Amino acid sequence: MKEVKTPKKPFVFYYIIVLLALMLFNMLVMPALRDASIKEVNYDQFMSMTFNKKIDKVEIEDNKILFTDDSGTLYKTSKMENDWGLTERLYRSGAKFTSDFEKETSPLVSFLLYWILPIVLFAAIGYFAQKKMMDKMSGGGSNMMFGMGKSNAKVYVPSEEGIRFSDVAGEDEAKENLAEIVDYLHTPSKYSEIGASMPKGVLLVGPPGTGKTMLAKAVAGEANVPFFSISGSEFVEMFVGMGASKVRDLFRQAKEKAPCIVFIDEIDAIGKKRDGRIGGNDEREQTLNQLLTEMDGFEGNNGVIILAATNRPESLDPALTRPGRFDRRVPVELPDLIGREAILRVHSKKTNLADNVDLNAIARMAAGASGAELANIINEGALHAVRNGRRIVTQADLEESVEVVIAGYQKKNAVLSPKEKMTVAYHEIGHALVAAKQTNSAPVQKITIIPRTSGALGYTMQVEQQDKYLMTKEEILNKIATLTAGRAAEEIITGTISTGASNDIEQATKLARAMITRYGMTEEFDMVAMETVDNQYLGGDSSLSCSAETQKKIDDKVVEVVKEQHRKALQILNDNKEKLNELANFLYEKETITGTEFMKILER
Ligand code: ADP
Repeated sequence: MKEVKTPKKPFVFYYIIVLLALMLFNMLVMPALRDASIKEVNYDQFMSMTFNKKIDKVEIEDNKILFTDDSGTLYKTSKMENDWGLTERLYRSGAKFTSDFEKETSPLVSFLLYWILPIVLFAAIGYFAQKKMMDKMSGGGSNMMFGMGKSNAKVYVPSEEGIRFSDVAGEDEAKENLAEIVDYLHTPSKYSEIGASMPKGVLLVGPPGTGKTMLAKAVAGEANVPFFSISGSEFVEMFVGMGASKVRDLFRQAKEKAPCIVFIDEIDAIGKKRDGRIGGNDEREQTLNQLLTEMDGFEGNNGVIILAATNRPESLDPALTRPGRFDRRVPVELPDLIGREAILRVHSKKTNLADNVDLNAIARMAAGASGAELANIINEGALHAVRNGRRIVTQADLEESVEVVIAGYQKKNAVLSPKEKMTVAYHEIGHALVAAKQTNSAPVQKITIIPRTSGALGYTMQVEQQDKYLMTKEEILNKIATLTAGRAAEEIITGTISTGASNDIEQATKLARAMITRYGMTEEFDMVAMETVDNQYLGGDSSLSCSAETQKKIDDKVVEVVKEQHRKALQILNDNKEKLNELANFLYEKETITGTEFMKILER
């Protein structure tokens, strides 16, 4: 078995720190201590002691005079300028001149005082600090200096009110998958009798905020076993080998507490592919090696189940995901409409909701939101109600909070000039009108021209009645046309163009490019993938994988697609110019209009 040696290097580091501390102690603390033991007197008292022959020894320094009396008490006084007869007077009084009072103390005493005492002091402080840390960590036992290399996994011992599967809304597939683990932790014999062994590791993959941590806690809660939780980044230390020793420590603790669950959040922090490049990240690789070794080390049925979460599964080292390690992968996806509604319901349990609140409508408005965002929507809604002096959360509060989560807070003090405001009104109505006129576009829910903190000067909210899993080519084209329609309306009405369409342009281009490079929706390129998505759960970055010539052709095609839809949008708006004017003026006056108001005017 491959063992990673405990590092020696860090200790040198601590010795240096102790030595530096000692030197500082000698330079700053000791002189202060010594000064504190010296009695300070006035010059006239010094003079009278000289006169009365009370001075035993004396030392004249640059700016002070140190002296002792017959009983050995040490005094000091400031030196007077121009006291020329001082030496003479002292000599006559029978005082003995000395050059250094420090040297008067015996070498043994000063050695004890200056070097041994501080060491004893530091050792005592270190001992107590370590003891405190050991007390904090359950099952401690490592005798490493200052608790280095100890895993700081937090242990949650299950309690009655721990998180249960019922607290995690939606995610039924994930729960089903994990229920088996719970069953195994309850009755391992059922599985071992038949010769089945549980997976050692389960990888929860999905976008941020979808409830991966919650699910892991729920497994522990349901199975009633201890739950160790640590984040992958906590293993990454400054010194090579420290992370590895933390891994060892974590597994030792877990085995002591088995059956139990170890949860490693953000495992990609240590589990990234080892790339073998010179000067690579030694520390991370050693930590990963140790993790692999530990996972191989324990037998299938010893009751330690490792759950790990990541939103970058593609970056994990293949050695980590092979059977025998993290052999089961549970996707935890963004919730669908039913899931979103259920999550809103779970989080609004403790919220005082008005009777007319329609959580389904809120769930439809919040398409694409993660569980964490939905929880935030409920909370923002409640805060909004409190801000307005109400005790009950209404539908309007929740609708406003969806917008807050999507577009940020309303910008109260953003003052648009009337001309700018009119341009924004035309821009937004342009989007809404083209969306409504194309049969396949989703109905408009709300149009507003109140600026938001995200920088949006206005927006048109479209809400689908149902979740959509597929989009046809026509739907994508219509969407591109809708995106270009804001700019188109500006062109028609103001005769010029503004900077207000940058976000639309970005989205339209992205869609057009995806149609060509990923969805195979053009005749020219047919079903050939030109692009690969690198980061499925984190924004979906993609990289082109084709020749430079093809890239050029793709670029030309993207321009062609967007141009054509832009032309279509211009056409629709020109055909409905009257409605465009009427609606834009209406929006300019009211600033926010609902989808129903919009449709009423359109169909008049
Ligand atoms: P992840 O680990 O996937 O990033 P978390 O499990 O930490 O996400 O979830 C963050 C928060 O979002 C949770 O504390 C919870 O309030 C909320 N949440 C996410 N998904 C759900 C869900 N399916 N049901 C209920 N709440 C959820």
